[in-house]
Amino acid sequence: MDFAKMREEAIRRLMAAGVIKSGAVAKAMLKVPREEFIPPEYRSHAYVDTPIPIGHGQTTSALHMTAWLIEAARLKLGDKVLEVGGGCGYMAAVYAEVVAPEGFEVRGHVYTVEIVRELARMAEENLKRLGYADRVTVIHGDGSLGYEPAKPYDAIIVTAASPDIPDPLVEQLKPGGRLVIPVGSPGFYQDLVLVEKDFDGKVTFRSLGGCVFVPLRGRYGFPERVWRRDW
Ligand code: SAH
Repeated sequence: MDFAKMREEAIRRLMAAGVIKSGAVAKAMLKVPREEFIPPEYRSHAYVDTPIPIGHGQTTSALHMTAWLIEAARLKLGDKVLEVGGGCGYMAAVYAEVVAPEGFEVRGHVYTVEIVRELARMAEENLKRLGYADRVTVIHGDGSLGYEPAKPYDAIIVTAASPDIPDPLVEQLKPGGRLVIPVGSPGFYQDLVLVEKDFDGKVTFRSLGGCVFVPLRGRYGFPERVWRRDW
């Protein structure tokens, strides 16, 4: 299978449809081999624009969702990014290609927190094998609490549906920072909410539209009886 060609065609289609608007996002998505992050049985579907199962009942988001999150969070060269929900590591690699592409002196960094130990290990292995170890740090833990040691962040992207906006995430944003988070019921549509902290520390909230994500767990997520249910 010619994955490079499939990748190029998929990204070109998303650009033509106006889904990918930014050149930096297109360039980043053209670089990252999604087929290398997902389980072998789904590899032939790597460039279908749909969520793909990654094991443990979780999925990596569709290509258009990855692009949308990055554009909504306005990631740019040099940003320090926190991802809540590392999954297989694919999306973190795409963020890294935006904030810390090779050949630039300014280097951002991505911290990605994953609550399922086996997935955190898989993300770490994938990212290391594909040359992202210096730009992406994987943490096994509860990302609904954010990640204190590396705060504050230019951008925080949550890739699981949250019942509300966790206070620690807002607190860990830099002035001028952006938080993008799906808020709403699990197993149904959620609102993708953009939270912005301005330079005076004032926080504003704006809904960007509907989306569907797996439920957030942990301290600020849904209780176990909710996320264990087979949605
Ligand atoms: N960005 C991922 C998509 C992962 S799907 C990728 O590129 O593959 C959402 C992930 O969030 C799942 O792997 C799930 O285990 C994880 N998750 C759910 N609650 C979490 C929490 N409180 N902290 C960290 N990760 C969490």
